[in-house]
Amino acid sequence: MLIYLNGKFLPREQALIPVSDRGFLFGDSLYEVIRSYRGLLFEAEAHLQRLQNGLHALRLHVAEFEQLLEIARRLLTENNLAQAEATIYFQITRGAVFPRTHHFPPADTPPTVYIAVNKYAFNTDYLKTGVAVITVPDVRWSRCDLKTTNLLANILANQQAHELGAYEALFVREGVITEASHSNFFVVQDGKVFTHPLGNAILPGITRQVVFKLCEQLHIKIEETPLPAAQIAEASEAFLSLTSAEVLPVIQVNDKKLGEGKPGELTQLLQRAFGEYVESLRRR
Ligand code: PLP
Repeated sequence: MLIYLNGKFLPREQALIPVSDRGFLFGDSLYEVIRSYRGLLFEAEAHLQRLQNGLHALRLHVAEFEQLLEIARRLLTENNLAQAEATIYFQITRGAVFPRTHHFPPADTPPTVYIAVNKYAFNTDYLKTGVAVITVPDVRWSRCDLKTTNLLANILANQQAHELGAYEALFVREGVITEASHSNFFVVQDGKVFTHPLGNAILPGITRQVVFKLCEQLHIKIEETPLPAAQIAEASEAFLSLTSAEVLPVIQVNDKKLGEGKPGELTQLLQRAFGEYVESLRRR
């Protein structure tokens, strides 16, 4: 597998970063994931815009920013994934400088830029069966809008879900469900879709953005509003949105089945619309 690291295309085994890298030491680092549908880099501009916003917030400058997609395409081609289902992972850290200091290193320190492609690996059975989720306290910091690699709270929450046989963990902050460990969360009630508003408490998911677009096209009302955790079990349907699974039905929250305990109709309608949207982009 060939990867990109700091201007070079290298076999993964030869792609090494120094132990003084600030991504390793501090998690002083951002990441992004774009899905490739047989060469269609889905919503690539929106993903790059989010990355750009993050870089701006972290005060990081990446010289090859304009070339990131070109590099990603070359990696797909060189790894025989140009016509396959794949994901592209980008990570940018504040570079490597010794000795370790909390404040930024000298301004001329180059950031570490890492890009890798992988064969798409999601268990697509879940799209049909739906998944169970659990709720956990949202102990994350208050800049959840930034896609940083500081994912410890997300990892611990997701591991808890995993150990209980659930797919995801919903974060609850002040009685409200914000999002999940690696996805945004929606409920359906009386034919309307509800999700947490944008802001510091959630990642502005690109798939979430597509869900809004699809709801608009389908004339489904969608509203950004805090979702009280205590009322979730009363929702008729719920779903998650994430790059790797598009719209993923939720059929159980903790011990309570939602609705009839199977993917809801409106959720399935959105899943179909999502598929058609991807196809329409592929035909362009
Ligand atoms: N929320 C969190 C915390 C995430 O980590 C992710 C994806 O990794 C999402 C939401 C969904 O974002 P996207 O739709 O851009 O994949």
